[in-house]
Amino acid sequence: MIRRWLHKVLGKPAHPAEPRIFPVEQHGIRRNSIHPCALKVTRVLKEAGFAAFVVGGAVRDLLLGMTPKDFDVATDASPEQIRPLFRRARLIGRRFQIVHVYCGPDTIEVTTFRAHTPQNNDDDTRVTAEDGMLLRDNVFGSQVEDAARRDFTVNALYYDPEKEEVWDYHNGVADARKKVLRMIGDPTTRYREDPVRMLRVSRFAAKLDFHIAADARAPIAKLAPMLERIPAARLFDEIMKLLLSGHAERGLRQLRAEGLHHGILPILDSILDDPPRQRFLHAALHDTDERIRHGQSASPSFMLACLLWFDMQSQSQTYLKNGLTGQAALAAAMDDTLERQRGMLAFPRRLDGTIKEIWSLQPRFEQRSGSRPARLLAHPRFRAGYDFLSLRTHCDEIPVELADWWRRFQDASDEERGAMLLPAGQGSGKPRRRRPRRKTSAQESGGDA
Ligand code: ATP
Ligand code: MG
Repeated sequence: MIRRWLHKVLGKPAHPAEPRIFPVEQHGIRRNSIHPCALKVTRVLKEAGFAAFVVGGAVRDLLLGMTPKDFDVATDASPEQIRPLFRRARLIGRRFQIVHVYCGPDTIEVTTFRAHTPQNNDDDTRVTAEDGMLLRDNVFGSQVEDAARRDFTVNALYYDPEKEEVWDYHNGVADARKKVLRMIGDPTTRYREDPVRMLRVSRFAAKLDFHIAADARAPIAKLAPMLERIPAARLFDEIMKLLLSGHAERGLRQLRAEGLHHGILPILDSILDDPPRQRFLHAALHDTDERIRHGQSASPSFMLACLLWFDMQSQSQTYLKNGLTGQAALAAAMDDTLERQRGMLAFPRRLDGTIKEIWSLQPRFEQRSGSRPARLLAHPRFRAGYDFLSLRTHCDEIPVELADWWRRFQDASDEERGAMLLPAGQGSGKPRRRRPRRKTSAQESGGDA
């Protein structure tokens, strides 16, 4: 009562000093749903006299009945104090060190409580280091301060496995129940400090199926251009988290609804406004989301190949109109598209090879005579190429019959395959209007060297 009156008179404190502590009967998270390695890490730290909690996404997901992706631990021990406590542990990072503790194939990230040093950096372009890490949150702090530096109230929950308690400094438990994504502190200030938080809003709203608190949503439209000053590599990491969250489709729609895609994935407009392209993307993302929800991996290259396909094709058409041959137009368009997109999201160059292979295999699926189908089947990227081909049936680019033929061809015996081949000159799945041209040796060999 007195505190409430004081708040009224003095304004809300920057961060509440006392957490609400929820016992297991109220939050329902059982110790045995915590990764054994995280249990071990918190136990060892506590035995050494330190505070130790499972923190962030894992607590939030468990509270919501979801399966956490990974388990992070927060403690008041410094990295130098943490490392000797574990046989297999490594200090990571230069400016702000965290400790990775390894248990078999699994890694637990252990972070020392950090304080948030607020500044209004409207003109500060040095928000992040080259590797895109936030430089601001780089002083050790108390647990109260650690909670206050986090982004959303549901991301600032601490779980004590020993006592089976959830410590909640910012009403995160209540917000989780209401399914609301609420920013800790003043949203505009927090976005200005780190514009990537705007992308995180879209990701978490999609992943958790939460609605965004009105005050957290309102400033985004105006502040979205601030993403331009974020290093492209950090944007790529955050977008990949969204694409590989198991809720990619909802995430991308959310991103567009907030107007955040402009400098990141401008192609999204022309895809989502065109029903056939939309069906293609829907099918692609649906497949990916299903894979991830079933614990399978999904390839970033394949996702990028899908997202950039229409861009690449229109570029290729332009080159064709300017007189380049099919192969040359394709090659130039692939390079252009990847370079242009890399200027916005710095995806690693090692992904280029696979993306280009998936794209350049597409015309080869139209050839269904002679020895070419067998050669294509033996191509190391056949599967990805075929999956991509199947998606293209959704945007009416190729007939369903063609994808179906390839599905049957894969499963057929040698004899059946022989019978399936079309007579020379009829291999294409759709009528061609291609003028006769001389073949280069690269084209003879399929051009996928
Ligand atoms: P996920 O399950 O998708 O990994 P997560 O909540 O664990 O979700 P991470 O990106 O792994 O998300 O971040 C871990 C925690 O670190 C978050 O829960 C949040 O408390 C804090 N955090 C991460 N990035 C930021 C940021 N940009 N600003 C403030 N807090 C952040
Ligand atoms: Mg995480």
